[in-house]
Amino acid sequence: MITARPSIPILDLTAEIESLWDELQEAFVRVMGSGHFILGPEVSAFEREVSDYLGVKHAVGVNSGTDALVISLRALGIGPGDEVITTPFTFFATAEAIGIVGASPVFVDIDPATFNIDPQLISPAISRRTKAILPVHLFGLAAEMDAIRSIADEHGLRVIEDVAQAFGGRYKGQMLGTMGDVAAFSFFPSKNLGAFGDAGVIVSNDENIVQAARMLRTHGSMKKNESEALGYNSRLDELQAAILRVKLPHVDAWNQQRRQVAERYRIGLEQSPGIVRPIVTDYTDHVYHQYTIRVVGQDRDAFRQQLSEAGITTMVYYPIPLHKQAVYAEQCHSFPCAERSAKEVLSLPMWPQLAEGTQASILQHLVPLCGRVGS
Ligand SMILES: *Cc1c(COP(=O)(O)O)cnc(C)c1O
Repeated sequence: MITARPSIPILDLTAEIESLWDELQEAFVRVMGSGHFILGPEVSAFEREVSDYLGVKHAVGVNSGTDALVISLRALGIGPGDEVITTPFTFFATAEAIGIVGASPVFVDIDPATFNIDPQLISPAISRRTKAILPVHLFGLAAEMDAIRSIADEHGLRVIEDVAQAFGGRYKGQMLGTMGDVAAFSFFPSKNLGAFGDAGVIVSNDENIVQAARMLRTHGSMKKNESEALGYNSRLDELQAAILRVKLPHVDAWNQQRRQVAERYRIGLEQSPGIVRPIVTDYTDHVYHQYTIRVVGQDRDAFRQQLSEAGITTMVYYPIPLHKQAVYAEQCHSFPCAERSAKEVLSLPMWPQLAEGTQASILQHLVPLCGRVGS
């Protein structure tokens, strides 16, 4: 008889949910009993709790991380004719949001060591139309915010942080999402802080941006039946807010567990010349939304296939850089670091409760595929 190999997923949320089962159930029951489902007390409480956690003045709960980006851009007054500088190596939503508001994304290549936008390439990409820089803290690692902020200040540009993958991460001790003019977070279920559906938040210290975001998330309306702009139906549900309130107090511990998992990968892969591990710096707190290696000197897809046959799930984030996506391909840009990364990257199983034994068995299959130092 053939027994199916136990397969190890890329992410497993069951331990997290089970550990909070009673509190989550209580949150569901509380919302059901309240009869209040959209923009009620849970959303207000979550907005307060998340802004306290981050140390910002305001938070505005919205429907998704994508909407958080769209509404942030609109709140800054960015629209048709404007350009926003961003990275081509990210999830599609980053550039999509820029396009949705009528502006154009201007891509600049990444630093291959961090997978984040290379600040040295930003200034040459600035034109008369440039309004903002939109860095992404990819895989949970901070973009170079000091350099980005100083370029932005020198040219009078806004900074919008895409923190979808880096909730709880830091740069030089500062929380990610607090260094731009405005920041967009996603609570898609697989993110470091995840809801039970789509959800997102916008944070800012700027009263004007926050006012505009609040107006835009609900049909451009601040007063019932009076709309001052074309907005969106993009509100955070009470149920999602109640769930996020249960999870928020645990995020720091989960991120710490992610770092421990990452450390075990780092040590386990120390003698493997065929891969490049994520960079470790002393001034960023990586929150390892993904543990992403580079496979060098051999075919990444074949490597991935061998892991898959051993029952180990991996993912390629991202196989197609954004400038090669159909909607941007006409521009015929070339960004060698992003293109090379797309061919080499591989994200390994990563979640806070990933057991040491499971991880040991992942490494047992992985290491022999990576070559050995000196061989
Ligand atoms: C997930 C993600 C988004 C979009 O968030 P949604 O909540 O899925 O809309 C935007 N940017 C990045 C980098 C992401 O990873």
